[in-house]
This record gives sequence, C-alpha cells and structure tokens, in this order.
Amino acid sequence: MTALVIDGRAVATAMREALAARIAALPFRPGLAVVQVGNDPASAVYVRTKDRAAEAAGIAATTIRLPADVKEAALLAEVARLNADPAIDGILVQLPLPPDVRAQAVIDLIDPAKDVDGFHPHNVGLLASGRPAMIPCTPVGVMKLLKAANVAPSGRRALVLGRSAIVGRPLAALLLAADATVTVVHSRTRDLPAECRRAEIVVAAIGRAEMVRGDWIAPGATVIDVGINRLAHGRLVGDVAFAECAAVAGVITKVPGGVGPMTIACLLENTVTAALRRREGQK
Ligand code: NDP
Repeated sequence: MTALVIDGRAVATAMREALAARIAALPFRPGLAVVQVGNDPASAVYVRTKDRAAEAAGIAATTIRLPADVKEAALLAEVARLNADPAIDGILVQLPLPPDVRAQAVIDLIDPAKDVDGFHPHNVGLLASGRPAMIPCTPVGVMKLLKAANVAPSGRRALVLGRSAIVGRPLAALLLAADATVTVVHSRTRDLPAECRRAEIVVAAIGRAEMVRGDWIAPGATVIDVGINRLAHGRLVGDVAFAECAAVAGVITKVPGGVGPMTIACLLENTVTAALRRREGQK
C-alpha cells in the first residue's frame, strides 16, 4: 500500500485565505502580540513566521523582544500591560523561556480570554472537562488535518505518542471529545511498537527523529507526525520514518509540510476567535 499524503501546506493555505476573507469583512483589525525572550535562533524563526502570517491575514501583529537576561518581574509586567491593552486580542509568549523565568508563572498571568496558545490552566481545565474554549494550536491543527483527509476519529482506536502539556495531553482530550478510543503512550510505556500496531490513528509527538518505524504501523492506519527534529547535517525530519511508514499506512503527513503550517493557521484562527468573543463579551 502507498499512503495518501496529506498536504498540510495546502490545507493551511486554504484556512489562512478563508480567515483573511473573514478578517477583511470585520469592522476592526484583530491584534496579536508575540513576546520573544532572548535570541534563540529557532524561536526567532518561529516568531518571524507567526508575525508574517498574521500580517498577511490582516491581523495587526506586534512582536515584543526582550533580552535573554530579562527579570521575571519585567516579563510579568509586560504580560500585564498586554492584558490591559484593548487593541490586543491574543497574547503568545514564545517558549522555551530562560531557566531563571518560571514559564508557568508567565502563562498563569495571561488573560485566559487572550490566551491564543490555550496553555492557561483555565483553558486547559475547560478542554479537559469537554468544554473547549481556547484550544492549543498544534493539537487543533492535527484534528483539522484528520478532517481534511476524511478520517473520522469516532469509534476508532487512536494512539497519541507523547504526553506533553502543549501537544500530547490536549490532543488526547480532543480525540476523546471526537469519540475516539484513546491511548496515550510515553517514555515509561512498555512495548511501544505493540501499542502502536493496535492503533487505527497514530499521532507522534515525542521529539525523537524517525523513531516510529514501518513495522509499528497497522496496514491502512492514519499516521500524523508532529515531531520536528533537526539532524546533524541540518535536514528536518519528524518522529516518523516516513518512507517505511508510508509504505504501510493509509494516510500520512510529512515533515516539513504537515502539521507545522497548521499550527500557524490555527494560531491565526484562535486570534480571530478571541477578538470576536472579547467584543461579544463587551456588548
Ligand atoms: P516534549 O519534550 O515536551 O514531550 C515529549 C513527549 O514524548 C513526552 O511525553 C515524553 O515522555 C515522550 N517521549 C520522549 N521520548 C520518548 C521515547 N523514547 N519513547 C516514548 N515516549 C517518549 O515535546 P513536545 O510535546 O513539546 O514536542 C514533541 C515534538 O513535536 C517535538 O519534536 C517538537 O519539536 C514538535 N512540535 C511540533 C510542533 C508543530 O507545530 N509541528 C509544535 C510543537 C511541538 P515522558 O512524558 O515520559 O517524558
């Protein structure tokens, strides 16, 4: 079997175009603030990409760059300022933060209504209780890719590899809400390949280059690769050994060009959602 490859770039482009049309029809411009601390090159690339994508969609994007040695109090003050700024609908603090800054303290201060990353405990709790409000961008992007490929999770055995707060856990909650039978596996799981082989949908988010092999995948399964790993010579690969798995799977995503573009498109959508909800709440 040769798997159908979902083109994440095409799905994301269509989403961004539809969003741009929605934004153009609004009587205001949604505002997104991205806070970048330090000058980690990977973070700088992500922040620039988000900024450009937001502007292209008609969102007023502001990037606030703070030095790597910023004091936690100064970062918290910046977040408080953005919370109070009526022109800002969405706030995203680019992670990771320097070790001296408690990331959770920063996330906890973001106004949940402006929390476009969906990391605030208020939004995490709503998602866990089946009442999603602001949903983290990467997991929602995965769900949209499944929909684009006509893979309905309902009744299917779905396996999430990884249990991080930003990908694995929220994705498991979304799959459960979509009526899948969900298994979450992690570094303490015994016999990962056997767990994978039982699944009809496999989503890999572990940050281990090409760890998921072809013989882990059930024939015809759907394989979504969230991982982004840079090899020594610079090439980007996912958590899935693509060629091997594509030979067995029914549907698969690539890295790059799979989940990554969806994360950005979902960030823009969350910003528009936040903008509309805030204005609705002010009426
Ligand atoms: P984390 O490092 O926070 O979490 C990794 C998870 O994978 C943990 O739950 C860990 O288990 C598990 N894990 C690690 N090694 C193994 C192993 N050998 N066997 C089984 N489980 C393992 O990563 P993130 O969730 O933040 O990111 C995962 C990947 O997704 C990364 O490559 C990241 O770059 C990528 N990513 C991509 C995005 C996109 O837009 N495409 C967005 C966000 C992330 P345990 O909990 O037991 O330690």
